[in-house]
Formats: sequence, C-alpha cells, structure tokens
Amino acid sequence: MTLASKFEKIGCEVKSKYPMDKYTWLRVGGEADLLVTPANATQFKEALDILHSSKINWVVLGEGSNTIVYDRGITGVVLSTKKLKKIEILEDQKVTAETGVILGTILNKTVKEGLTGFEFAAGIPGTVGGGVFMNAGANEGEIKDVIDRVWVWHDGREIELLRKDIKFEYRKAHLPPRSVVLKAKFALKSGNKAQSERNVKQYMEKRNETQPITMTNTGSIFKNPPDIAAGRLLEELGLKGYGIGGAKFSDLHANFIVNCGGASAQDVLDLIETAKKEALSKRDIKLETEVRVVGDIK
Ligand SMILES: Cc1cc2nc3c(=O)[nH]c(=O)nc-3n(C[C@H](O)[C@H](O)[C@H](O)COP(=O)(O)OP(=O)(O)OC[C@H]3O[C@@H](n4cnc5c(N)ncnc54)[C@H](O)[C@@H]3O)c2cc1C
Repeated sequence: MTLASKFEKIGCEVKSKYPMDKYTWLRVGGEADLLVTPANATQFKEALDILHSSKINWVVLGEGSNTIVYDRGITGVVLSTKKLKKIEILEDQKVTAETGVILGTILNKTVKEGLTGFEFAAGIPGTVGGGVFMNAGANEGEIKDVIDRVWVWHDGREIELLRKDIKFEYRKAHLPPRSVVLKAKFALKSGNKAQSERNVKQYMEKRNETQPITMTNTGSIFKNPPDIAAGRLLEELGLKGYGIGGAKFSDLHANFIVNCGGASAQDVLDLIETAKKEALSKRDIKLETEVRVVGDIK
C-alpha cells in the first residue's frame, strides 16, 4: 500500500505535489510530495502514528503564517491541522481548543462571553498549534500568559503537559523534541466585555497603521535583538524598502518582508541573509529569524 493510500484509508484528504505557495502566507515555496489533512482529532493521531512508523520526512503546519518553504519544496509529508477546529468554553473561565483553531476565533468567542485575557492575540493569524509552538505574542501578551495545559503527541503517544512543565521564552516553547500540539487549554478571567472590545479595536488600529496589512507578508521576519527593535535596526541599516527580485523589506515596517508579486523563496532568503550580514558587520548584532524555514535546501 502506498503512503498516500494509508492516509486515505483512515479518512484524511490527500493531495500530491501540492504547491506550498498556495498554503503559506508569504505565497512562496515549491511543492510538497503529499499534503495530508485529517478531518478530526482521531484521524490526526492515526496519521501521526503512520508517520511515526515510516521513515518519511514530515512537518506539521497550521495556517502557514510563520513559515517559508524552500523553492525546492518538501520531500515528504505536510500534515495540516486546518480542519481541527473544535473549541469549547468551559464553566470555570477556561477554554479548550483543538490545534487548528485560529487564535482570533478564541479571542472573538471569549470576549463575547465576557472573558478577558486573549485580547493580546488580536491580528495574529495563526493557529493554536503554531501559537503554542511559537509562543506567539503581541500587545504585551503572549500565549504563555494564558496557557493552562497542552496535550501533545510525542514519540507515538499522547501526553498532557501542565503550564509549569513547559519552559517558554520569547517566540519559543520548549516542548519535547518532535512533539506535536494536539489541543490546548487556556485559563482566562472574568472581564468587562466593552473594555475588551475597546482594547481589541485599539490593537487592530495600531496594527493597521504600522504594518503592511494590505500586502502579502508573513509577520515579523526577525526576533527583536536585546537592545533595539529589529524594524528600527533594519531601518538604520538602510534596508527599509530594499528589495531582491519580487520581495522587499516593507516601506512601512522594515521587519516585514512583502511579496510584491512573483517573489521566490530564494528572494526572501537572500533578503534575510543580507540583513543578517549587515547587522553583524555594521552593528555587531546577530539577528535571529522569527519565521521558520522548512523543506529542501537547494
Ligand atoms: C500578518 C501577520 C501578522 C503576524 N503577527 C504576529 C504577531 O503579532 N505576533 C506573533 O507572535 N506572530 C505573528 N505572526 C506570525 C504567526 O501568525 C504566528 O507565529 C503564529 O503563531 C503561527 O501559527 P501558524 O498556525 O500559522 O503556524 P505555521 O506557520 O503553520 O507553523 C509555524 C511553526 O509551528 C509549527 N507548528 C504548527 N502547528 C503545530 C502543531 N500542531 N504542533 C507542533 N508544531 C506546530 C510548524 O511546524 C512551524 O515550525 C504574524 C503573521 C502574519 C502573516
């Protein structure tokens, strides 16, 4: 039986030679051998078991809003969480959400219920899985501030990790190696609905003013170094608006790379390398990417 038919047999949607520029937010990248999309949590775990027992290379993706795929594509499987969207608001101001739930959905539902704590996520387009993995944050809040526990698939079995068992840092959660987020529980508080709505509105207005939201982008490219915001540093290095091929550092916010149309992943990676070299040679600063790069290196 082929690998594709094993996934089909358990009910997953399977697409061969899937162009990953259609999947990722920056709209660059080559083909994945297989894109596998389970319809529910049971299928997701069964698909992980199949991958675990095969020698094939694989990666789990949520919305692809923080991911660049190399132009050579991905030899192996992309396991997508896009259909895993169950969310439940519990009575004790806690919320459980499957790995593919968009952070904005949790925000909208919890604010509507008069809960507070998730407003920081306004405008972050990722999923629970990507959000936990990245410890996504904005507006002085991060996933780590609201996480109660996470269920992950690790080494062929499901384990529950309490907040105290997970070390979080800036844009990173230290999960057991190669583990996959299945579901998370968030602990919120009773709030004032009108106040939460005002805060969300203000966060979105700020985002709209300062970020290139009308252009194809993938959020912040670099993590902020200790003593200066990455955007400010890139601007001081003269890179704001600087482009290679179809990609450039945004004219509005230099820590965003925008796809002006027809950019390749290599254009984007060349911009990243240019910025890293300039920052190191001119300011002795080692820039670290926030965005994740996956697939086959040329
Ligand atoms: C317009 C825009 C604005 C943004 N603003 C912000 C912001 O303000 N703050 C911020 O922090 N980020 C921001 N981002 C980046 C991005 O939205 C976040 O990093 C988000 O958490 C990524 O979620 P995702 O589902 O898209 O992850 P993906 O891009 O699909 O994956 C990112 C990484 O997470 C891993 N991953 C995904 N799902 C799982 C899983 N279930 N288990 C284990 N690992 C998994 C992937 O393998 C990959 O390494 C922005 C992006 C865009 C496009």
